[in-house]
Amino acid sequence: MKVLIINCGSSSLKYQVIDSDSEEVLAKGLCERIGIDGRLVYQKAGLDKEITEAPMPTHKEAIQMVLDALQNPKTGVISSLKEIDAVGHRVVHGGEEFSGSVLITDEMIKAVENCTDLAPLHNPANLIGIRVCKELMPGTPMVGCFDTAFHQTMPAKAYLYPIPIEYYEKYHIRKYGFHGTSHSFVSKETAKFLGLDLNHSKIIVCHLGNGASISAVKDGRCIDTSMGLTPLAGLCMGTRSGDVDPSIVEFLGKKLNLDASGVLQILNKKSGVLGLSRGLSSDFRDLSAAAESGNRDAQNALDVFCYRVTTTIGAYIAALDGVDAIAFTAGIGENDKDVRSTVMNNFHYMGIRIDEEKNSIRGENVKISTDDSKVAVCVIPTNEELAICRDTVAVLSENK
Ligand code: ADP
Repeated sequence: MKVLIINCGSSSLKYQVIDSDSEEVLAKGLCERIGIDGRLVYQKAGLDKEITEAPMPTHKEAIQMVLDALQNPKTGVISSLKEIDAVGHRVVHGGEEFSGSVLITDEMIKAVENCTDLAPLHNPANLIGIRVCKELMPGTPMVGCFDTAFHQTMPAKAYLYPIPIEYYEKYHIRKYGFHGTSHSFVSKETAKFLGLDLNHSKIIVCHLGNGASISAVKDGRCIDTSMGLTPLAGLCMGTRSGDVDPSIVEFLGKKLNLDASGVLQILNKKSGVLGLSRGLSSDFRDLSAAAESGNRDAQNALDVFCYRVTTTIGAYIAALDGVDAIAFTAGIGENDKDVRSTVMNNFHYMGIRIDEEKNSIRGENVKISTDDSKVAVCVIPTNEELAICRDTVAVLSENK
């Protein structure tokens, strides 16, 4: 089957066409600056990227351009839209409605609309992508894959916030968690790679990218994760603060004469390692280089980041009552060997040992712990598009 994967943001859209049998990416790219001017990046497997500047007033023109590029007689990968067997859409927030990927129907769309106040920036953009694809490819089956779904197995003790219970009942305020597609994919790949029985395993997945979250996965099911009602919670991130004392919102608001959303803007966009490094960078390559040349702020930022990852892993070892494997993934998790060894060296007392030579290998699944390490530590590159493709095929075969 040829599956089109769509990840629609408010002014951008990422896409891939994957052959689900071989799991090869046939073409991929993105549309940027939708509603501003418009830029299509298209890359057929094995060829260079093509960049086209063209007006994209709305997502409809953007998706139409993607579909035209896919059918281009020279560089396309299909000769007609009929060759797209299914479309898999990323959807950010599925609330408590969705604990797995589902076929897109009118009822499903309504249920996603009902979750919009939980993800006011993301869900409307995801829905636009769904509606436009339905219009341009009527009759093609479509599946929605939610960032929150994998975490729906958390027990109440993990997802309830200790605030009056009516707010959970009335407003659905609870921990949801994000990056679920990645946590699900990486936990499964980790078990496969290490030869563990997923149904009898304790795995901690560290998804460390610009946005970062950790999850505790017991017997293949998520039992806790570090993001919350929104992706602002948990670890220190590129520009997000992660967990802070909630009183800071009022305190800083008074000092800066800002309302709550003004302070939250700071906590989302100007905090994390960017804020700690005095605005130097949110990119770990820049921070490591600066720290090496003696920049104290950059070093503090890296220290805070690693400390939070360490304490969260520690908490999840307790929640799991032990751990068989710890997996690192996403931009920092896959590429930054110093972060991995700094974090893992804090677990020396537990018998975790890192092989620094293996820790330097990049771009593939690799076990970076020594053979005598009490816990297996590995790097497992995430692949959210492939995870969406697999889910799309699975949901379609269940609904045949
Ligand atoms: P997101 O999908 O959340 O935008 P990614 O998973 O793509 O984020 O991660 C992006 C981050 O990964 C960058 O901001 C940078 O900090 C980090 N990163 C990427 N490549 C490297 C590298 N070679 N060494 C260290 N960090 C890297």
